[in-house]
Amino acid sequence: LEVNKYYEVIRELGKGTYGKVDLVIHKIRGTKMALKFLKKKTTKLKSFLREYSISLYLSPCPFIINMFGIAFETDEYYVFAQEYALAGDLFDIIPPQVGLTEAVAKRCVHQVAIALDYLHSKKLVHRDIKPENILIFDRECRKVKLSDFGMTRRAGSPVKRVSGTIPYTAPELCDVSRHEGFCVDYSTDVWAFGVLLFCMLTGNFPWEKALPSDSFYQEFIRWQRRRTTTVPSQWRRFTEQALRMFRRLLSVEQDRRCSVKEVFGYFSHSWMLDAENNNN
Ligand code: ADP
Ligand code: MG
Ligand code: MG
Repeated sequence: LEVNKYYEVIRELGKGTYGKVDLVIHKIRGTKMALKFLKKKTTKLKSFLREYSISLYLSPCPFIINMFGIAFETDEYYVFAQEYALAGDLFDIIPPQVGLTEAVAKRCVHQVAIALDYLHSKKLVHRDIKPENILIFDRECRKVKLSDFGMTRRAGSPVKRVSGTIPYTAPELCDVSRHEGFCVDYSTDVWAFGVLLFCMLTGNFPWEKALPSDSFYQEFIRWQRRRTTTVPSQWRRFTEQALRMFRRLLSVEQDRRCSVKEVFGYFSHSWMLDAENNNN
């Protein structure tokens, strides 16, 4: 199929080793849409069809990116079409070291939580929750949608290798020696959701170094089990209620981590950031 016969490319929206995402106008329909191009060289037809069909299956959720039911191939790429998110992705709007205001962060993660709850109710695990995969329609995050279902698998299927993006990967999955007999589990998304929420509120990761270290996990476990009362410095800005929520979301011990359903209870609290330390 000759792409240019039907679509006019306006600009590139994203690029990676996978291929690219282009903003296009459908010449006959006159509608704008995003085309995701996956390189045939590095993408198996089976993986393309899985990502496409999962995205299509999840489309009815208002907080998941909408699909047009268009898929085709060119000489070089497998391609599918999805709605265009006009404000890009969340990564671009989180101010580093500062974070978004509490109101914006809350509105955004609440919508992500609804999307995740829907996904989990369909027995699927996203496995790549991060700001780059949350598409936004305006910079105030009045409307956000979860996207990129390339890593999504059924809960309970065997884990073969470390997947996802390291800072958002749950500790049990970072430990490659433990992968034997590991299964895809909802708790992976809950950890990543916790990291996401922390990033949105602070513009930083929950740990000081580029990546979480073993000593970070050890100290964190002590804090979570309340064996120490000293809150890590980067956590001082949160309210008691928010700290309680983070203890459960970012529980190093997988079986102590809360479910996405439980997250909704936490949103009924009005404040996440301590008013005194809140510089937003
Ligand atoms: P990958 O699987 O390689 O991560 P994504 O589907 O996440 O690919 O797309 C890569 C990037 O392209 C996203 O992080 C986002 O910035 C941009 N993008 C993808 N889909 C859309 C869309 N529908 N509207 C606007 N931007 C998009
Ligand atoms: Mg992505
Ligand atoms: Mg992907």
